[in-house]
Formats: sequence, structure tokens, C-alpha cells
Amino acid sequence: MTEQSKSRFVFKPIVRGIAIKGSEELFPIGKVYCVGKNYADHAKEMGGSVDKDQPFFFSKPPQAITQLAKIPFPTQTENLHHEVELVVFLKSECSNISPSKASQHIFGYAVGVDLTKRDLQDIAKKTGRPWELSKGFDNSAPISKIHKKEGQLIEHGEISLKVNGEVKQSSNLLNMSWKVNELISWLSKFITLKPGDIIFTGTPAGVSKLNQNDEIEAEIENIGSLSFKLIG
Ligand code: MG
Repeated sequence: MTEQSKSRFVFKPIVRGIAIKGSEELFPIGKVYCVGKNYADHAKEMGGSVDKDQPFFFSKPPQAITQLAKIPFPTQTENLHHEVELVVFLKSECSNISPSKASQHIFGYAVGVDLTKRDLQDIAKKTGRPWELSKGFDNSAPISKIHKKEGQLIEHGEISLKVNGEVKQSSNLLNMSWKVNELISWLSKFITLKPGDIIFTGTPAGVSKLNQNDEIEAEIENIGSLSFKLIG
């Protein structure tokens, strides 16, 4: 399929844009990838371990990404969890690249929360079914504004999340098993990564249940902060 001029579409294509710190421009969202079990302490609390040989990924749709300060509490769950994560934004196409070539494709970073319907995910795990409905629902990926850091590899920095002022997750990006450049390289072996693609890089331990009216604050050193409320 070739790209067509806008006038040929049967309805207007929707391109979602993310705000960038200090800029009026928006970052157009492409594909959204998330890595599972990238911090040993979180893998352990989930009853598993980090696979040092191969990371595993799932996707969220672009509609999952939100920068709303008030997010409607999701339906169809009795056990919604927070997962604070460093999010990486890509600015150029790459395919089958080595980790040493990955950083040149980085546009910037943001603080993100991978909201997860843990009850639905547990059922999916037990039955061997996909995680889509537990991970890819509307507004399941709140993120901060993008901190532009073109070509820069981020390998350390405090990462934390509070619920109603209480610290629930606190770690350092140093504890990521698969580093940002290794994740980009790995994905690029399977999929041609494009400008606009996004990678959620996994969460440290301390995930917990969220309730209506909870206020979530997340922060990553030198990247930024994110706060939102789950409204009833
Ligand atoms: Mg996650």
C-alpha cells in the first residue's frame, strides 16, 4: 500500500500528538511497545524472573496514550494496578541495528504509567490468551510531556511513583535489566521501527491496586514528572 494524499481517505485519519516540554510542536504517535519484566524485583513480585536471553514485548494502541490530568476510572476491573516506566520516543527509522547504533534514533523521553487490569491479565496468563484487554484499554498509558534528548542514551536516574502522597515505587533506571539501547536493538530485529514509535521500558517493584479518586504522581530524575487523578 502506498501513502495517499489526505483527500483520498474515506474519513479523516486520526493522528494523536503528544506535548513536548518547551515546544508548541507535537510528537505524532506511531506504534507503542512495552517490555515486560525488565526489573528483577518486579519480576519477582509477579512470581517470575527476568529472562536475560530474550526480553518479551506487548503493544498498546495509540489510543492508550493520554496526557489528561483527570482520567475516568476504567471499567471491567476489580484490580487496576500502576506501573511507572521510562518511556522512549524514536525519531527515525531503523531495522536490525546493534545496541551501539540505537541512541541516534532517540528523540526524547517521558515519564509514563502502564495502567494494568491485573485481574484480567492474571486470567489471560492462566489461559494462555493475549494481554490486549488488560493492557491496551482507553487511557491505559498516561504520560508526561516529552523531554527532548535527541541522540542521548539515559541509563540512570531515580524513578518513583506515589499514590495519594504515599511512595509505592522507588528505584533507579540502573536496575533495568535490558537497557534502552538494547531494547531498541532487540525490537528492530523483528520490526522496522519508525519515527513516532514509543517504547515503555518496564517497571520496578511496588505495583499496587488503585481506586477511584486516587491521585498518582510519578517522577524520573532529569526527565520530568506526571500527575493525574482517577475520577469516578
Ligand atoms: Mg509495564
